Amino acid sequence: MKVNFVDLRSQYEQIDTQVQGAIANILEHGRYLMGPEVAELEAKLCEFTGAKHTITCSSGTDALTISLLALGVGRGDAVITTPFTFFATVESICHVGATPVFVDIAEGSYNIDASQIEKTIEKIKSEGKLTPKVIIPVDIFGEPADYPVIKDIASKHGLKVVADAAQSFGSKSGDKRTGSVADVTITSFYPTKPLSCYGDGGGVFTNCDDTAFELRSIRVHGQSDNKYISRRLGLTARMDTIQAAVILQKLPIFENELVRRNEVAAMYTNALTQDRFNQKVKPHLIGDNRMSAWAHYSILVENPEDISKKLNDLGVPTMRYYPVPMHLQTPLKHLGYAKGDFPVCENVSNHVISLPLHPYMTDDEVNFVLDKLAEVI
Ligand SMILES: *Cc1c(COP(=O)(O)O)cnc(C)c1O
Repeated sequence: MKVNFVDLRSQYEQIDTQVQGAIANILEHGRYLMGPEVAELEAKLCEFTGAKHTITCSSGTDALTISLLALGVGRGDAVITTPFTFFATVESICHVGATPVFVDIAEGSYNIDASQIEKTIEKIKSEGKLTPKVIIPVDIFGEPADYPVIKDIASKHGLKVVADAAQSFGSKSGDKRTGSVADVTITSFYPTKPLSCYGDGGGVFTNCDDTAFELRSIRVHGQSDNKYISRRLGLTARMDTIQAAVILQKLPIFENELVRRNEVAAMYTNALTQDRFNQKVKPHLIGDNRMSAWAHYSILVENPEDISKKLNDLGVPTMRYYPVPMHLQTPLKHLGYAKGDFPVCENVSNHVISLPLHPYMTDDEVNFVLDKLAEVI
């Protein structure tokens, strides 16, 4: 048996005629940018998330960048985030001229330690060099961050919360779906994310009319009502109509996919506490009162390199997200962080591997992965 890490092929087989029809329709009407499918998708995503506004865009990275621009974040501003994320989170902060300030992840979690955020805000204020403006919690591997606590801290100190939900679209905090929890939420529709297109794509969700207005303008060169009169600086950050059409075809099967992702994750979590794993594998336990979108299922093990290699040889592909935390990445050296600054994150980076997880995995495949893992442990 050979298991796939993700399986876009099986998904395509569910929707192939619909996708082909939707793309053929766009080739006929010819509105390749901002075509009717874009508006249709934005309306459907508002319905799905409960957000008042959806602004689709060119990628998750651009979604972060235009969100920070829309909130007026720039030089001299501090943006608080986690060192355990994909580089794009931090890249967007730097591109708008602001300064990323990291807070370690919580022990036993892969997400930012909400209990350390306030201390960091106070430190930034007392140093007096930067103005804390925004917190970007990242819902790593699909699990929502601790939004109730983070939102309280943000409102107490006058900061905005921009949720990086690139890996968690479809997840829930309490009974609220991603997109209606933070001031602004971004997601990515990159092919391997929970809801995805066949190229690059992203989205921003907000209930704030003013922020939505700025986002729509920034997405197309800071345009005003007149296409050739710009009201501010912007970007080319639209979603292609064809990508919007692809997501529209995937949306009807998404809810069932989330259910299956959760079933597979539960199978992993239940099995990993069994005796045959000898307590040598730490499963991903989700925090209270939330539902993960399970972009990935990650575990902590003593020798991740060795175990990855052996699993791979046995037909079980794995990935290592993220071997180098943000504060130790070379392009961010100027921030002045050093090894040892975020011990929880560094420990996770040194021990994490992700197992295959996708909605088309059979129980047999999940059990195969577990058997092989037990074998190499
Ligand atoms: C994928 C990802 C992004 C960037 O999304 P793109 O669509 O690839 O630009 C940002 N943040 C996180 C946490 C991601 O996983």
